[in-house]
Amino acid sequence: MASMRDVVILGSTGSIGSQALDVISSRRDQFRVVALAAGGGNVELLARQVLDVEPRVVALARATSAQDLQFALYAEARRRGWSEGAFRLPRLLIGPDKATEVARMPADVVLNGITGSAGLLPTLAALDAGTTLALANKESLVIGGVLVTRAAKPGQIVAVDSEHSAFAQALRAGRASEVRRLILTASGGPFRGRGRDELASVTPEQAMAHPTWSMGRVITINSSTLVNKGLELLEAGLLYGVDLDDIEVVVHPQSIVHSMVEFHDGSTIAQCSPPDMRLPIALGLSWPERLPDAARPVDWTAAQSWTFEPLDRDAFPAVDLARRCGTAGGTAPAVFNAANEECVDAFCAGRIGFLGIVDTVARVVDEHLSDAGPHGHVGDDDLSLEAVLAADAWGRARARDLVAEGVFA
Ligand code: NDP
Repeated sequence: MASMRDVVILGSTGSIGSQALDVISSRRDQFRVVALAAGGGNVELLARQVLDVEPRVVALARATSAQDLQFALYAEARRRGWSEGAFRLPRLLIGPDKATEVARMPADVVLNGITGSAGLLPTLAALDAGTTLALANKESLVIGGVLVTRAAKPGQIVAVDSEHSAFAQALRAGRASEVRRLILTASGGPFRGRGRDELASVTPEQAMAHPTWSMGRVITINSSTLVNKGLELLEAGLLYGVDLDDIEVVVHPQSIVHSMVEFHDGSTIAQCSPPDMRLPIALGLSWPERLPDAARPVDWTAAQSWTFEPLDRDAFPAVDLARRCGTAGGTAPAVFNAANEECVDAFCAGRIGFLGIVDTVARVVDEHLSDAGPHGHVGDDDLSLEAVLAADAWGRARARDLVAEGVFA
């Protein structure tokens, strides 16, 4: 890379954020971290990160964690044997809107690694500021839909999701007019091969045991229900302007082929690498250039098998449901995502069973699409930020009600 890049990392204490800092730690001559943002759930880790990379600004969403962070910073400095005055304290910004504020800071790249719909306003802020957005937070793109794609200049969003990074890499092999289909690969999650009946009694612990990836809680549960693949389908359609009918989901349990592009002459280009998010994160930070040795490549001296199988759409109806929401567009994906986020919390707290997650989401989506009243669907043409936020709030409230009523145990 020719020059130093200034980077803002949102969600720095999460799985994506920590791995991004890992990528940067051995490349301090190429990247300078100007700001970090986190929720406040792990102030000890945040304090270590602050002393490691010395950002100018740190944003913390939860006000109640502010004092704990101050203590953690001094404790960490003491642990390192640093005397007071030996380090520069960053400016602390406290409050739920502060990640959005740092997303607007002058920088070359904003990496959005926040989880869930809380990432929407920071995504819009980074785009509005004209900064390159390395996007892990797929929810913001999916729920914002055309609001996000219209706010982005061509090439301003660089995908960090491994599948979408794979698409971006494979799409370099031909022209947009030559693309016939996108093939979105899915590991199948921990319950691949089980029928719907066998899924009724699975526990949050089992759902958290992903076979190939180590990730945050929400995306791990979403991978077990295949809601994550549904979100990724919509993400791919929005990022690459491909009709959802031209995106095929294929189960590939080894997670080495991260996705593929089929061109109209019959050629398919795949991107392959052992499962390691540091590769797409590195590419997201350095795009369009590659960082040498970002991750280990495939070992071609070892015998291995890569397998592919169709998705079991009866056991895992989330992808079809997401496709319906994406086709309806407008506020439907926001309702899908909001209801799902609530149901993931309810499942982890033992208030709903595994099948209840997608069954509840489907009911909430159905009600939204058939309601001609104030909670009904708003299409792409009339979509506004207010409509998305209202749909998000309604989808959550409705899902909470259905869970409380025990409609889908
Ligand atoms: P984690 O749950 O591990 O981390 C989420 C991060 O967001 C934490 O740092 C959390 O802080 C922070 N956060 C939460 N709410 C706020 C807020 N309001 N303001 C500022 N920071 C906030 O999630 P992941 O890293 O696994 O996932 C992040 C995103 O990346 C998701 O959208 C996910 O779908 C996507 N993704 C993740 C992959 C992975 O391998 N993990 C792969 C591909 C995509 P705190 O800990 O303090 O609460």
